[in-house]
Amino acid sequence: MILPIVKYGHPVLRQRGAVIEKITPEIKQLIADMFETMAANHGVGLAAQQVGHALQLTVMDVREVAKDRPSTLELKGKPAEAAEIMPLVLINPVVTPAGEPATGGEGCLSFPEIFAEISRPESVDVKALNEKGKPVEFRCGGLLARAVQHETDHLNGILFIDRMERKQKEEFRDELDALQAATKAELKKK
Ligand code: ZN
Repeated sequence: MILPIVKYGHPVLRQRGAVIEKITPEIKQLIADMFETMAANHGVGLAAQQVGHALQLTVMDVREVAKDRPSTLELKGKPAEAAEIMPLVLINPVVTPAGEPATGGEGCLSFPEIFAEISRPESVDVKALNEKGKPVEFRCGGLLARAVQHETDHLNGILFIDRMERKQKEEFRDELDALQAATKAELKKK
């Protein structure tokens, strides 16, 4: 089922996700719905907060944009194809920077029409559980590292506007205020 995407201004986007203790049928259904929602919106990643659930759960798939925006992957220290681990589910992820900061373009489904250059470590080490509850561990770079960091930020209530330089955020001030006001007005109606 395609779920509605929560937009900037909704309080759930600022909530830290609860740790997932057990992969219940409800969590499995949520994962399936998140993949469907992400694909319908041509997203590279989607966090549970973006569909209204404050949980440590995110889904990703970088294959569609792989040609324009490459990713690197290392499994147990050996180079691998990022496509091998796609589609990717990360539950309770722990992300550690492993590279120098790099700047790259980012958007967010919760911020329609807003795109910005964001600086983040070029590569990261990731430890998480997959959709079966099994531990996964890898190092990634390029777009996948950017997506992993953007999504795990969501799981901690952090948004990409928090990573923008002050000057850049100022440029989006009017759009951000308008989006926030529209979301709040929508919430009041319910
Ligand atoms: Zn986002």
